[in-house]
Amino acid sequence: MTRPRNERYDTIVVGAGPAGIMAAMHASERGEVLLIDASPLPRNKSCGGMLHDLSLEALAPYGQVPESIVVGPRIVNFRYVDWDRDIRKPTTLPFLNVDRAGFDDWLVSLLPASVEVVGSCALVGFRQDADGVDVECKVADEIVNLRCANLVGADGARSTVRRTLGAGATSTYVTLQDFVELKGDIEPFFDCIYMRSLGDEFGYGYVVPKGDHALVGSVFYPKTKRPWEKADRLLDVLRAAMPQLGESVKREACAALYLRSTSDVVPGSGRVLLAGEAGGFMSPSSGEGISYALRSGIAAGRAIAANPPGEALGTYSVAMRPLLADTARRLRWLPLMESRAGKYLAGFVPASIVSRITQGL
Ligand SMILES: Cc1cc2nc3c(=O)[nH]c(=O)nc-3n(C[C@H](O)[C@H](O)[C@H](O)COP(=O)(O)OP(=O)(O)OC[C@H]3O[C@@H](n4cnc5c(N)ncnc54)[C@H](O)[C@@H]3O)c2cc1C
Repeated sequence: MTRPRNERYDTIVVGAGPAGIMAAMHASERGEVLLIDASPLPRNKSCGGMLHDLSLEALAPYGQVPESIVVGPRIVNFRYVDWDRDIRKPTTLPFLNVDRAGFDDWLVSLLPASVEVVGSCALVGFRQDADGVDVECKVADEIVNLRCANLVGADGARSTVRRTLGAGATSTYVTLQDFVELKGDIEPFFDCIYMRSLGDEFGYGYVVPKGDHALVGSVFYPKTKRPWEKADRLLDVLRAAMPQLGESVKREACAALYLRSTSDVVPGSGRVLLAGEAGGFMSPSSGEGISYALRSGIAAGRAIAANPPGEALGTYSVAMRPLLADTARRLRWLPLMESRAGKYLAGFVPASIVSRITQGL
């Protein structure tokens, strides 16, 4: 089991997702960086792997997304589906269809050699004082004590860094995602499916072709009991209408940020910055999180590079103001989008307008 080489670092970044990788990359312009992840690397993050234009824009300065991680159909457009009323509203909102594990691995490959990357190393606690941060990690059964000037919590929806900081835990959606064998082609859309018959705990489902499989996801509101039973029902209903959907070869469970207030967006405190879902950076209306993770990670790393040790928070908070304003705007739409009336009315709105609204959500 690999453990961190040193005891002291300029910056320790917790979480090797898009937020943590970008933070580590830019923070390394100032000093030594350790990037740790609780999972073995390369990690497997349950995700649709749909890259929004905002993600591609954020990534453009770092190079082209390699074709080797793109899966067919290459581009899929978002489509709103009201299953009960058999309404489909295709939009002009495109997503690049990638293999998420390959995407994360590619991001890691962009890191300079000066960033030390250690998998299977979990942060279990930390304490900050006037001169730095003492960090406690666990590698196998061993506790490793480290010290740094800046700590970045990019450890996702159930962030330990955020909890330890006392920044208030956020609620999480329960997500299940099945990799379903395809027995024939399905339409090249990223279908977002509302289905009232699955009950009020069911937020929405999605179906997207991914090479020779389809991803079928279901998103449930926090504290949903026995979500797997509802996910099975969703699959049964979909299979009855889409005989191309075969057996599920893999099912993943995960948590996704359930953001309901801008007070859940916290850039950090003192020497500790929070990026990506850990900081509350994710679209509350569309569930799109990769572009938010990239943008907040880049801003956190740049703020560290531009400031004396431990003094990055002010710069980072200012840099995140546009994303906070964007989140506030999306939150205003959310009650209407989630209401029965809103979903009902969406069925009458022309596809061109759904398309335009979706671009902004
Ligand atoms: C089912 C599902 C489908 C999704 N589909 C899409 C999509 O198609 N497009 C899109 O844009 N977004 C999607 N999202 C959202 C997107 O995946 C996330 O918003 C994005 O990955 C967040 O990036 P992050 O860097 O903040 O955190 P993450 O990618 O979640 O990474 C956090 C990392 O921190 C590590 N970690 C956790 N605790 C510790 C600890 N104590 N010590 C060390 N490491 C720790 C974890 O192992 C993990 O690797 C989806 C989410 C889910 C759940």
